[in-house]
This record gives sequence, structure tokens and C-alpha cells, in this order.
Amino acid sequence: MKKSIITFAAAAAVGLGTIFGGISVKTEAASISSLKGEQNKIQNQRSEIKSGINQANDKISKLQNQQADVKSEMKRLDLAISDATEKIDDKTAKMKETKVQIVKLQGETKVIKERIEKRNVLLKDRARSYQETGGMVNYLDVLMGSTSFSDFIDRANAVATIMQADQDIIQQHEADEKELEKKQTQVKNDLASLQKMLDDLKQMNQQLNTQKAEKDKLLAVLVDKEEQEHEHAMDLSEQAEILAAQDAAIQRSIKQEQERQAKEAAQAAQAAQAAKAAQAKNNSANGGGSGGSGGGGSTAAPHVSSGSFTRPAPGVITSGYGGRGGSFHWGFDIAQSGGNVPIFAAADGEVYVSHYSSTYGNVVYILHNINGQTYTTVYAHMQRSLVGAGTNVKKGQQIGVMGNTGDSRGQHLHFELYKGRWQYHSAINPSGIVPL
Ligand SMILES: [Zn+2]
Repeated sequence: MKKSIITFAAAAAVGLGTIFGGISVKTEAASISSLKGEQNKIQNQRSEIKSGINQANDKISKLQNQQADVKSEMKRLDLAISDATEKIDDKTAKMKETKVQIVKLQGETKVIKERIEKRNVLLKDRARSYQETGGMVNYLDVLMGSTSFSDFIDRANAVATIMQADQDIIQQHEADEKELEKKQTQVKNDLASLQKMLDDLKQMNQQLNTQKAEKDKLLAVLVDKEEQEHEHAMDLSEQAEILAAQDAAIQRSIKQEQERQAKEAAQAAQAAQAAKAAQAKNNSANGGGSGGSGGGGSTAAPHVSSGSFTRPAPGVITSGYGGRGGSFHWGFDIAQSGGNVPIFAAADGEVYVSHYSSTYGNVVYILHNINGQTYTTVYAHMQRSLVGAGTNVKKGQQIGVMGNTGDSRGQHLHFELYKGRWQYHSAINPSGIVPL
């Protein structure tokens, strides 16, 4: 019992490879269930991607809030900086004024010093004459020497005037010196306090500018992060779109498979009846498939090679599958210059995506079912696509024109092959499968 189940399973597994040969109904049932399994996988992936997009959007709005915070902080810093700058300008102007005053004061000081110097000479002269003549005695002599009363009055007045003048000179002298000292101190203090304020302001301004530079940096980081999230979101939504289309295509292919099976069953019944009717002769219509290459291909154009796949475009291979300068190249690049270079479907199948992508440009996705194995091919950077989603195409049928759209440098076809359904970054090396 167990052994027969295992044998059956093995037969089913082998039969998968030759589904279109139509050997056994059991194999076809297995094919449908594998398609359904794939459909479930896709649905799971779609919901994962959806929650991925939601997460990305949450991150974007969080980053946008953070950016708004940083921007308002920067506005505050800008205001503080312009306030400080204004104050610096003001203090600088005041210092300039004070320095002008200092120069003026230095001029005045010179005059006063000269005056003081002159008076010093005068007072020294007088002091010397006092010493030589005995000081006040000299004045008495002057007074005693008067010839008349009016002469005495004149002399007394003269002496008083001279004495007053001496007194005035000394007072003026002291006042001048005091005034000078006061002015010098005042200006010195003014200048020092202005210098201090200016230094403080300059330091504050420097701190504010440093803070602003830090905020600038932070904002740049936040903007960059948001950019990445956008890219991530865009990427995911494109993926979601492709997966949704793929889901629909697989559903259609399940339906087609069911219809084909029903038709085959009817044909088998008919054949059985015919065989019964033609009992006389030996079994005639009982041969059957032998696996290997799929049907079609007899109407091949010159560029179409035999086998299930054909080369998707004329031209030279400019880049193969694999690592390339730090990044991974998920396909083959075929380049040919000139206008209207055709791009062909690599195999029979159904176009399920034909759209514009910022990375792939005008791109076509085709789902193939080759001897029970699902394949997906992708044709990127086309100048234009000639097929829409839902179009059934034949191997070698022109589907577009080679171009340079999307993230592309120079006219070429970027071709990707997937074993099974399309899945982001899971393309396989087409060499050995697709003639390139
Ligand atoms: Zn490429």
C-alpha cells in the first residue's frame, strides 16, 4: 500500500515535466494544485508588501515630523543668529565711535599736556624767582617801594592779580589733570566693556552657527532617510503591482488548464469510442508525448531558434548575469544601435505587465508555461512596448522596440529570466536555458 503511494507520487513528480504532453490526468491535477500553491504564496507576499508599504509610510510621516521639528529649531537659531549679528554690528559701530573719540582725546591730551608743560615751566620760573628773591618779601618790597598811596594801590592790585593768577594757574592745572585722567579712564572702560560684549556676542554667534550646522546635518540625514523610505515604498508598490498582475495571470492560466483538461478528457472519450468502433485494426491513436521540447515553432521567423526559448533581441551581449562593480546584475544586456531594433518574446506566454517603471523604463513581464514549468521573462528599457497586459504571445513575436528608458545608459535590452513566478531579486542565469 505505502509503496504504491510513493510510486504514484514519483510518477506525478516526473509527469510535471511533461504536462503539455497530456500523459496523465493526475499530473495535471498536480499542476493545478502547484499553481494554486503559487497563488497562495503570491497572496501572502502581497499582504506582506502591503504591510511593508504601510510601515514605510509610517516611517515617512515620522521622518517628516522630525524634519518639521528640526526646521522650527533652525528657524529659532536663524532668528537668534540675526539678532546676535545685529548686536555685533551695533557694538562694532560703537567701538569704532569710541576709537574715534580716543583719537580725538589723544589730540586733546596732547594740547592739555603741552599746556601743563608750559605752566610747569612758568611755575618753575616763578618758584626759582621766589627762591632768588625770598618769595613773598619780594611782593612786600614791591609794596614798600610805593611812592604814593595811589601808587601803593596800583602795586597792591598788581601783586594781588599776580598772586591770583598763580592760584588760577595751579587750580586750572589740577582741574585739567583731573579731567584728563577721568576722560582717559572713562574711554578705557568704555572700550573694554565694548570689547567684552563684542567677544561675547562673537562667541555666541559662533555657537549658534555651530548649532545651526549640526541641525543642517541632521536635516540632511532625515531628508536622505525619507528619500530612502520613498524609494522603498515606490519599489514595494511596484512589486505589489507586478505581483497582483501575476496573480491574475496565474488564475487565468489555471482556468485555461482546466478548460484544456476538460477538452482533452472529451477527446480521450471520443478516441476511446472510435477505438472501440474500429475494433478490427490494432490500436492506432495511442502514441503519446515523449517530453522534451514543447509544441509550436513551425512558423518560426528567421531569428527564431528551435527549442522552447529563442533569443529575445539581436545585438551583442554587453553584460552578463552576476556581480558587477559591487552590485548584482540580475540579467543579460543585449545592445544594438540604430532605430527600430525589435525585441521578441523569448517563448510562448502571456504578457501580464506592460508599464513604465522609473528603474526599468518601459518594461514587459511575460508568464510562460513550458512543459509544466512556469517561467517569467522580463524585458526592460524598451523605447516602446507593442503589447499590453493580457496579450498572449508566441515565441519570437515582436513585443517592443529596443530603447534607453528608465535607469539605463545607452540603448539596450535588459533581459531577466525567473524559474517560476517573478519575485524581487530572484532572477536566474538565463544562459543554458535561453539561447543568448
Ligand atoms: Zn542589465
